[in-house]
Amino acid sequence: MASERRQARIKGVVQGVGFRPFVYRLATSLGLAGWVQNGAAGVLLEVEGPADRLERFFARLRTEAPPAAGIEATSVTAVAPRGETAFTIRPSDRNEPVEPTLPPDLATCEECLAEVRDGAARRHAYPFTNCTRCGPRYSILERLPYDRPHTTMKSFAMCADCAAEYRTPGDRRFHAQPIACPRCGPRLTLADGGGRPQVSGPDALAAAVRAVEAGEIVALKGLGGFQLLVDATDSAAVLRLRARKRRPAKPFAVLFPSLERARTHLELSAAEAAALASPEAPILLVLKRGDGGVAAAVAPDNPRLGVMLPYTPLHALLADALDRPLVCTSGNLSGEPMCIDDAEVIERLGGVVDRILTHDRPIVRPVDDSVARVDGADVVLLRRARGHAPRTIRLPVALPRVLAVGGHLKAAIALGLGDRVLLSQHLGDLDGPEGLEVFDRSVADLMAFLDFKPEAVASDLHPDYASTRRAHELAARYGVPHIAIQHHHAHVAAAAAEHGLTRPLLGLAWDGTGYGPDGTIWGGEALAVEGGRVERVSHLLPFPLPGGERAVEEPRRSALGLLSVLDPDRAAHEAGRWFAPAERDVLLRMIARGVNAPLTSSMGRLFDAVAALLGLGARCSFESEAAMALEFAAEHAAEDGAYPLPLGPDRPAVADWRPLAAAVLADRDRGVAPARIAARFHNALADHAVAVARSAGLEDVALTGGCFQNRTLALGARARLEAAGFRVYTHCRVPTNDGGLALGQVWAAGHRLA
Ligand SMILES: [Zn+2]
Ligand SMILES: [Zn+2]
Ligand SMILES: [Zn+2]
Repeated sequence: MASERRQARIKGVVQGVGFRPFVYRLATSLGLAGWVQNGAAGVLLEVEGPADRLERFFARLRTEAPPAAGIEATSVTAVAPRGETAFTIRPSDRNEPVEPTLPPDLATCEECLAEVRDGAARRHAYPFTNCTRCGPRYSILERLPYDRPHTTMKSFAMCADCAAEYRTPGDRRFHAQPIACPRCGPRLTLADGGGRPQVSGPDALAAAVRAVEAGEIVALKGLGGFQLLVDATDSAAVLRLRARKRRPAKPFAVLFPSLERARTHLELSAAEAAALASPEAPILLVLKRGDGGVAAAVAPDNPRLGVMLPYTPLHALLADALDRPLVCTSGNLSGEPMCIDDAEVIERLGGVVDRILTHDRPIVRPVDDSVARVDGADVVLLRRARGHAPRTIRLPVALPRVLAVGGHLKAAIALGLGDRVLLSQHLGDLDGPEGLEVFDRSVADLMAFLDFKPEAVASDLHPDYASTRRAHELAARYGVPHIAIQHHHAHVAAAAAEHGLTRPLLGLAWDGTGYGPDGTIWGGEALAVEGGRVERVSHLLPFPLPGGERAVEEPRRSALGLLSVLDPDRAAHEAGRWFAPAERDVLLRMIARGVNAPLTSSMGRLFDAVAALLGLGARCSFESEAAMALEFAAEHAAEDGAYPLPLGPDRPAVADWRPLAAAVLADRDRGVAPARIAARFHNALADHAVAVARSAGLEDVALTGGCFQNRTLALGARARLEAAGFRVYTHCRVPTNDGGLALGQVWAAGHRLA
């Protein structure tokens, strides 16, 4: 059969994921000649051989590509045969501008895991085994392009065996930049809680295993930072970790040795199992099935457990040896970034940990674990970090180059790169100096990596956010405009950007706290958004928050504010449930005089208030604890009823929650079960979403903002809106919470500039 030749350009995530060695092996196994090379926005290749084998090549290219590869488009053209006989991996074409690729860290692949577990393999039990399909990338990257001398592997000289693998086209480790083995690569050390080394090498792992078995708290230097490990089946150890971390109730994530072991504890759908085993390997929130031996203190009063599988050989070796579920939580204090070196652990977590299992491969930047859940077939990211960042999000239009600094909590920054947006990993909260330092470094790093010159700097409208002040400084430094985007406009714009919606869009931005241009705290908003333009369609009837921001930790304050609008006498009476008389009187005076009692239209605070009215949490030890209790109460109640939440006739229309609050109180006082009341409340909001959408007259509706982390609310509102004929968009690849703001800021500011 005569030879034919094809040229193909493959776009998508095809760099830094082992795609070229895969193409090489596929082509040579089919006896095809030609070449493959990295090029602009993807991979370029030519293959030559009989037509039927070329056909098989392109079919298998899609079905057998490395798991982390995301092929977006393949364009194939026929070219004249050249009579070549060999297949080669070509160096990048220097004349073709190569789009910079910032590869994310990828979970250990099955082949590497098998090697680590194979007693005869030369990488047996080696915790730093990796290949072109897996291993550290972004967390060890110092400069671009992504080559070994530009990573923290630069100080490890490859041994002859590793060097041979690195140079062999078709080897799984061909150009695997972090390639390593026990002879030439990083080594473990176990230190005590004060950082004094105790044992190094393979014995360090065994000693760490014994420490966990003994109930100790071990700080583990993982992929993108330190984590804290304890035996998840040991209640006393878990409670000690809670006490030392001063984290009384917020759920911990649990590492299971394998998918099979996870299944014995958890209800896992096929989509959930696939997400857990994916190269992104997030912490996945899944339904518990009994307690399965995991101590109740790990995720108290929560129907779900945050679960993950080993995503480095180090995690796999520890989990194999311990053969039990392990608490595996970020090595930080609440809201701070993860510690990335020993000195930080000793300084910031010295009183928390008993042992430190560390190694000599430096981490350049903290990259926390991603957190996700599965809704139907969709993986919904709630924290976008390891495995996902800093991948780009494609836009339907090219926009000016905007640097966006995000919000204040769950900070992330974004760089507008024309028709793509690079969204950074989750950077934590910007309250403390540690958070700000990581924020500043991320801005500097990403701009340097991409040689980025902004045409504008976008921020939130809140004048007191540290990020807003930074945006102001950055705009002055680069001599470009500073564009402030209202918080909820940015939330809706993030949905438009994620789903590529250029048509006018109604966004229901239901959220905790966002600065409103009228001086009140927004958060129960319906906004009509088109690019950079926004109109407030409706909002919740405002109510006062005595003590302002303190209401976030004390839902009882939201309840008091709500009642003061509904019925002041009732407020004074009910307040006795939550406050001592003197404190109650101070708060009521604050409300009456309008002093330190800002008005809010926040949906998050409405959730808090209803939760407090039902006795589901007057105070929170972590963000949205009370709102989550309300969600869990509603989750399995078979209840179709809904409370009234009428929408006024004006524009913006006011959603009057007073009939709803009155009905909640009446039901409660009649002894109706909290689960039923919680369900009627959720149903009321889902109905309300339809009423708002009808009044706005737009077909596309986005559900966005922190409240839609609530699965019952998100699925309920979606179902009712779709039944009413609306097209509904929710976030998947970008968090619905403030972790998605920067993407929306790029979209909104970019449109304004254009
Ligand atoms: Zn691998
Ligand atoms: Zn080696
Ligand atoms: Zn928000």
